[in-house]
Amino acid sequence: MGSVRDSFREYLSDHGLKTTRQREIILDEFLSSPSHLSAEELYLRLRSNHPNIGYATVYRTMKLLADSGIASERHFGDRQTRYEPNIGEEHHYHLICNGCGKIIEFENGAIEQLLLDVAGEHQFTLSHQRLELYGMCPDCKARK
Ligand SMILES: [Zn+2]
Ligand SMILES: [Zn+2]
Repeated sequence: MGSVRDSFREYLSDHGLKTTRQREIILDEFLSSPSHLSAEELYLRLRSNHPNIGYATVYRTMKLLADSGIASERHFGDRQTRYEPNIGEEHHYHLICNGCGKIIEFENGAIEQLLLDVAGEHQFTLSHQRLELYGMCPDCKARK
């Protein structure tokens, strides 16, 4: 986590921005929270221990984290922008429930190879890859 802090610090100073205690608290909370939170959900998690951190600060800090490449912004069918850490993670894909919005991550080497094969057939070099599958989770199916 130290090196992530350092790279955020470096990004901020490169852009003439200050490393503030609040920005670091938001970064730490982001890294220790479940993935795919929106800025609002992160704000709500922070609120009890850090009531002085406003929603606008969380929102702007998440934008900075996305711009710096530490976080990536994702959209999963609703209007929310969600964030996930972008560091040292294997490629993963997402199953998204249309009923409750639950997001399940999975990895699959065969899919990854298939995507590489498809890209190769088109002489295409991949920078990143996204796969989102939408449907119903077991809980929502049981509730019907
Ligand atoms: Zn569901
Ligand atoms: Zn994810």
